[in-house]
Parts: sequence; C-alpha cells; structure tokens
Amino acid sequence: MKVLHQSLQQIACIADNVDPLASKRKLFDLPEGVIYLDGNSLGALPKICKQRAIEVINQQWGTDLISSWNTHNWIDLPHVVGEKIAPIIGAQAGQTMCCDSISVNLFKVLSGALKMQKNRSIVLSQSDNFPTDLYMVQGLTSLISEQHCKLKLVEEDDIAPSLNSEVAVLMLTHVNFRSGRIHDMKRLTQMAHEQGILVIWDLAHSAGAVELALDECEVDFAVGCTYKYLNGGPGAPGFIYVAKRHQRHFQQPLYGWMGHASPFAFDKHYQASPTISQNLTGTPAILSMSVLDAALSVFDNIEMRLIREKSIKLTEFFIQCLSELELNETLALSSPQDPTKRGSQISVAHKDAYAICQALIDEGVIADFRAPDILRFGFTPLYTRHIDVLNAAIRLGEIVNSRRYDQARFREKAKVT
Ligand SMILES: *Cc1c(COP(=O)(O)O)cnc(C)c1O
Repeated sequence: MKVLHQSLQQIACIADNVDPLASKRKLFDLPEGVIYLDGNSLGALPKICKQRAIEVINQQWGTDLISSWNTHNWIDLPHVVGEKIAPIIGAQAGQTMCCDSISVNLFKVLSGALKMQKNRSIVLSQSDNFPTDLYMVQGLTSLISEQHCKLKLVEEDDIAPSLNSEVAVLMLTHVNFRSGRIHDMKRLTQMAHEQGILVIWDLAHSAGAVELALDECEVDFAVGCTYKYLNGGPGAPGFIYVAKRHQRHFQQPLYGWMGHASPFAFDKHYQASPTISQNLTGTPAILSMSVLDAALSVFDNIEMRLIREKSIKLTEFFIQCLSELELNETLALSSPQDPTKRGSQISVAHKDAYAICQALIDEGVIADFRAPDILRFGFTPLYTRHIDVLNAAIRLGEIVNSRRYDQARFREKAKVT
C-alpha cells in the first residue's frame, strides 16, 4: 500500500506543479487540516470577501447611509454583478442580471416563456431534475391550471424523442445534481427550436465549473445560483439570463417596482423596463450582492477553458485513485466514465453513503450525501489540488475498509444533509 501511495503521490505532485491555476488557491481562506470537496454546494470563502463585507458594513452602510445608493452605486449592483457573471456563462452584455434565487427566477422565466407560446401548455423536463425546478412548474400549474401549464416528466433518454410541436417549454438542468451527467446544451436547444419550443437551462452546477456558451447555443433563458462554484457565500443571490432577441416580447409576472421602466417616477401603473432590468423585482440584497461582487474577482483574467481542463484532471485522478486503492467495487461510480460527459463532481453509490459521509467529515474530508445512496465529491478547480484528491481517497479507503462508519453517531440524520 505504501508503494502505491507513493506512486500516486508522485503523480499528484507533478500535476500540481504544472497547474496553471495553482496560484488561485491562495485567494481563498481555507480552514487548516480540512479537505473541502463540497464547493458544489457552498463554495469556499475568497479572502477579498471579508474585506468587502467590512467596508460595506462600516463605510457604505454605517457612514454613508442612504447616499450609498448613488455614491457607492448600489442601485446598479445587480447589473454590475450580472455583467461579471456574463463572460463566465458565455453571454454578451445586456442579458444577465443578478437577483433573487433560482427558484424565483425560474418562476419568472417559466411564466414569461409560457406566455410567449400560443396554444401550447406542456413544460417538458426530466424526472430526476432538481426538485425545486419541478416544484416551480407545479406551483405555476396551481395558479393558472393544467390547461395553461402542464408538467411532463421523462427519463433522460426520452427527452430528445419527446420534443414535438405540443411542447411549449423545455426546462433542463445542465449538470445533474446527483450523477454529474452533463447535457449537450447546443444539440438539445437546437432540436427544441426546430419544434418551436423555448428552452430554459438551470446552470446551478455548471456556472463557474464548466465552459458555457449560452449565446452561441442560442439559449432562450437560463437561471443559476452563485453560492456553488461562484463562491458568493451562503444564500447569495442568483442570476437570470434572457436572450436579447426575447427581451421585447418577454414579460415576467412579478411586477416589482425595481423592474419598472422608471422606478423613481412612482407611477401607479406598471410599465416593464424594456431591458433585462424588468427581472429585478424588489430592492436587491446589497450586503450579500457586494460580497458576491468581490468573490467574482477571483475569476478575473481566467479562461473558463483552464478551469474545465483542471476539473477534468481532478475528477479523472479521483477515479484513478479509487481504482488503484481497490475501492471501485465497493463504491460504484454513478457519474459518467467519460469526463466530457460529466461536470466537476464524482458521485459514487453505497448503501451506507450517509454514514460514510459523516465519518469522512469527522476526519476532515468534507463531501456530501444525496438521498438515497449517493456520496458526492465536488472538485473546485480554483482551490483543489491533486494532493487533496489523493488524501481524500486514502481516507475514504481507510473508512470503508475498516468499516469505521459503522457507528451510531454517524447515522444520526441532521436537518441539512
Ligand atoms: C442548488 C440548486 C438549486 C437551488 O435553488 P435556490 O432557489 O437557489 O435555492 C436549484 N436547482 C438546481 C439544479 C440546484 O442544484
């Protein structure tokens, strides 16, 4: 075992030495002795965020008070942050806005897209999509009836064959939260368009982790969150993308004053802003959005291609470690073997996945569990090294082989898993 560890260690060291993103790790505040493989749920803390939080609290809020809406440009922050997210998702200016959560933004694009479709009511999605995405369709159905919004769920292989002229909207998550499987955005969007279907992509597990080209794929609408691979902090606001060509026809139903063409006219009648601004509903969460704004600076001057290349190297190396440590039979890979077909995570299945995950956390390796039996490891290329991947795999092996996870304390379910 020692010799094996040594040869894997050599591979890790060489890979880390030639890593073009190696210097990015020091931009993050990472707790000592912890291997953090859960950046796909909550990204780690960029150091610059601490500084910004203090400045916004003390100077902007504490001292400059309400004048900060102008002097510190709070009023434009949703745009400014949206335009920082835009290049990360492959969008030209004027189409991305930072606001609300994925759930709320989904409600906006679903309602707006259905309204643009005449005589079509079906929203097609995938059975194992993230629940909130499906719930938002169900909620809309409860409001406007099945006659106007009808959810149709199919398995992954049946998506393409189900695209027909009865479908109004295709709503998919680009990278599956359990398996990490990635959809062919370009092909599916194009196939949907050939049938007159509008397409909504959820980028929760894609933005900041994989290369995206929303404009090039002619995506209609997209939503995403910023607390995963974009490291914006817990509950950081999400983003919405509406393709320029739709902005004149698209109308979302949450008529908030901030989405009005002139909010400070205080007109009694709503008139939507003709730009992406109509997606702002109420007053933006300035504290949280300022921290996110700072967090996005770690992406300055980075090509997403480099992030994707490193992500593939990390996930491939993890699979290699599992295999050489002879763990791949006990822990069945539930992510695709082909690295181009998965996002920046590796999921393995085990009937005691929850207890194994708790035992790992107890030993300083943070991963997460997804019901019913998935142990999920997220690899954030900006701060994860190959040596971390190896050390995590070694500890995982020790826990599984010794059955150390077989203790009552590792089986107690917490509220958040
Ligand atoms: C994390 C995640 C969400 C979360 O939605 P919020 O409204 O931001 O809480 C939605 N969809 C997917 C696919 C996710 O992975």
